[in-house]
Amino acid sequence: VRTLQADFASLAVDAILITHLPNVRYLTGFTGSNGAVLVTPREMTLFTDPRYTLQAGREYAGPVVITKNYLLPSIAAVVARRRLRRVGFEPLHLSYASFQLLEKAKGTRWKPVPAVVEQQRMVKDADEVARIRRSVVTNSAAFQAVLKRIRPGLSESDIAAELDYQQRRRGAEGPAFETIVASGERTALPHARPSSVKLMANVVLLIDMGASQAGYASDMTRMVSLGPPSRRWRQLYGAVLEAQLAALDAVREGVPAHRVDSAARKVLKAKGWGPQFVHSTGHGLGLEIHEAPSVRQKDKTPLRAGMVITIEPGAYIEGFGGIRIEDTVLVTPTGHEVLTPTSKEFIQL
Ligand code: ZN
Ligand code: ZN
Repeated sequence: VRTLQADFASLAVDAILITHLPNVRYLTGFTGSNGAVLVTPREMTLFTDPRYTLQAGREYAGPVVITKNYLLPSIAAVVARRRLRRVGFEPLHLSYASFQLLEKAKGTRWKPVPAVVEQQRMVKDADEVARIRRSVVTNSAAFQAVLKRIRPGLSESDIAAELDYQQRRRGAEGPAFETIVASGERTALPHARPSSVKLMANVVLLIDMGASQAGYASDMTRMVSLGPPSRRWRQLYGAVLEAQLAALDAVREGVPAHRVDSAARKVLKAKGWGPQFVHSTGHGLGLEIHEAPSVRQKDKTPLRAGMVITIEPGAYIEGFGGIRIEDTVLVTPTGHEVLTPTSKEFIQL
């Protein structure tokens, strides 16, 4: 909060309104589904509704305003009363209708400000890293438990449901994103939804899953083959694994994110799979499953110790299938630590 308040001068604002819930949680610890925070030079006020009266008091020790109606008109009233002339807001996280409600504060100019809280959230403190570690362990344990039960005749949805269940049994609040289980040709869809398609013998599966535990995400993709995978599958797997290892190798403090992406892309390009690598190499994660920095060509953010990112190159061939291998990785002062404990072999059942 002090860092944020120190930015007021350079942002030319007297206060900042935070409406993005993960940012609200980051600043106050409040975990409810409806809340906003007004940060002024001296204090930070949490606004929420009567459903959260008890919870807000327990989670945040600072001033809390419980609004009877919608949050934003109450916030506009407070801003007007305190004569805050220039108030920053998060342009990516405020609807036009909400903005119109804020504009009712007479005498206040609302200024879109850059993603200042997201910038801070990129580097995790020790407590956050510990939470991510727990989430990663839960996720891998759930995967391992379900692996034993995968057999022909089960559907993709059956497996996804089992994965979600096993995560919760191990302390997760739930999956950090909709679990992906794709089989056969459907693995060529990078974000396939689990379907009722039943697994056949000798099919290849892509499983992309993450837990959310104590608020923090994990993310992992592994490939599973029922029976021995064909030569073509093994070749593609080998290429993607090589790209993944090359990207991991590039991860260290000071290296710009785009350079890590280039390391993976170079390998797949050399093997002729450049055009089949249709997404970025990875993303930051924490309170959200996708956070800054983005490990892609356009992101020049230098990696810093304490950042947690995914490394997940992939190659997708229409009519055949796709491979992705993904780990959750901590940037350290000397390089990196792969947090994901699950083996990266092409798993054969
Ligand atoms: Zn993933
Ligand atoms: Zn991911």
